[in-house]
Formats: sequence, C-alpha cells, structure tokens
Amino acid sequence: MLAGKKAVVAAITNRFSLGWGIARALHEAGADVLITYQGERTERSVSKLAAGLPGCRSAPLDVQIEGQIEALMETVQRELGGLDVLVHAMAFAPTEALNGRYVDTSREAFATALQVSCYSLTALAQAAEPLMAARGGGSIITLTYLGGERVIPHYNVMGVAKAALEASVKYLASDLGRQNIRVNAISAGPVSTASSRAIGGYLVMEHHVVAASPLGRRMELGDIGDAAVFLASDLSRGVTGENLHVDGGYHAMGTTLRPDEGE
Ligand code: NAP
Repeated sequence: MLAGKKAVVAAITNRFSLGWGIARALHEAGADVLITYQGERTERSVSKLAAGLPGCRSAPLDVQIEGQIEALMETVQRELGGLDVLVHAMAFAPTEALNGRYVDTSREAFATALQVSCYSLTALAQAAEPLMAARGGGSIITLTYLGGERVIPHYNVMGVAKAALEASVKYLASDLGRQNIRVNAISAGPVSTASSRAIGGYLVMEHHVVAASPLGRRMELGDIGDAAVFLASDLSRGVTGENLHVDGGYHAMGTTLRPDEGE
C-alpha cells in the first residue's frame, strides 16, 4: 500500500515505542523509512533497531535544539530523496508534573511539556511542507491520548498539551489541505512504554481501561501501526483534521461500570 512512499518516524526510544510499531508497519507496507532518536543515549539501540529493517535509516532529532529539525529535513532529502509521510510520536513532561494535582504544575514544566509535545508538530510540519508539496502532497500523523479530551488522573499537563496538539491538527489540516497534505491524529489506548510508565498509577489505569473497553483487550503496537498505515496511504485520501481513536472503543463508553459482569 505504501510502495514508493518516503516516511519519517520521530521519535523512537526502544522496541516498545509506539513509533517503532508504526515504523515496522509502514516498512511492511512498502515504505522507505527513516527513524529518529533524541540523542547519544539512544543512538546505538535505535540504530540497531533500524538495522533490523532492511533499508531503514536513523538520524538524530532533539526538537529543543535549534537547527535540528532543519538538519533532519536535509538528511531526509539526501537519504530518502523526498518525504510523503511524517509521523510525530514524541512527548515529554517532567516526571513531577505527571503525579499529584494539575493545579500544582510549574510554569517551567508547562512550557517544556507544551513545547516538546505540541509545538514540535507545528515546527515539523513547517519544515516538511516544501518537501511534501514538491511530491504533490503528503500525510502527517501525530499520536495523542484521551487525556486531551477528558481528565485522566495524573496525566495533568500532558492532557493540556494533548488538547493543544489536537487543536493544532485541525489548524494544520486547514493550512496544508490545499497542497494535498493531510494532518491527522491517532488517539491510542494505553500501551506500556517508557513514557507511559512515567505517569503516576499507570498500571492500575491500564488494567481498568482494558477491563472497561468494548474490545476488552490491550492495544498492541500492531493495532496502532496498522491504523498509521491507513492514514499514511491513499485509502484515507479524503480524511484530514481527524482524531482516530485506536483504543478498543474505550472513548465511546459513557460509564465504565459493567453491571452484567458483576462490577
Ligand atoms: P516513548 O517510547 O517514550 O516515545 C516518546 C519519544 O519522544 C521518545 O523517543 C523520546 O526520546 C522522544 N522525545 C522526548 N523529548 C524529545 C525531544 N526534545 N526531541 C525529540 N524527541 C523527544 O513513548 P510512547 O508511549 O511510544 O510515546 C510516543 C507518542 O505516543 C507520544 O506522543 C505519547 O504521548 C503518545 N501516546 C502514547 C500512549 C501510550 O499509552 N504509550 C497512548 C497515547 C498516546 P527519549 O528516547 O530521549 O526518551
């Protein structure tokens, strides 16, 4: 479905990263893939992962370092020869902001969370626009979570960042649509990763969501990866500004009580 497409997935930490699940699925669908790592700490392990996917390249990207997004786009142009698909799979908030009460969030933690988890999508879209326009269009996909729509305990400032990210998806879709560049989000159900485990009480919350969701099972990397293939491919050519929930249907529930199951 993606034969001949050039894709970048930013960012990956390890084989549990949602970005890695997406990179594998895009690659399996025929795309030429480049994955990013934030810095020296993960360079070796991410390069090793890339080596496991024939033709997959890796490059550094820290969105907080001036010039790195532009440098990435130069690498993409040189290594892939263009860009059709950009996957934004990154988020960060200081750990102390992912516990306790949202009302106690510091100005610094708020600014960091919003910059890395939200503004980075806009900055990447700005840099990707000319490359995608040169190829007649493209697909930009970001990862969000239900905590941007409703209160999830301890998600706190990250929920506020995801709400802003979801609004950004719509504004970017409006700005870039006439160039046939589509912008969508996948709202993933909880998956155990380095980032999700930093959220206070994550395992209890994951257990509850699985038990209460219509499909009644954990989301796997493949569930998220295949949804990304859909949004990256021409099958979704009429879809932009959308937030696709890949969460086993949990977002649709009005109550999480299941009286028939004795809860
Ligand atoms: P992850 O493996 O920890 O991925 C997050 C990535 O963001 C890491 O590779 C991290 O780099 C990178 N990052 C942080 N700060 C960065 C910066 N300044 N510049 C560039 N990259 C930076 O966790 P994940 O759960 O797969 O998260 C991927 C996306 O999915 C996030 O947007 C997350 O909010 C979203 N999401 C996750 C879930 C879930 O349950 N896991 C559910 C819904 C949405 P490091 O290697 O340096 O940490």
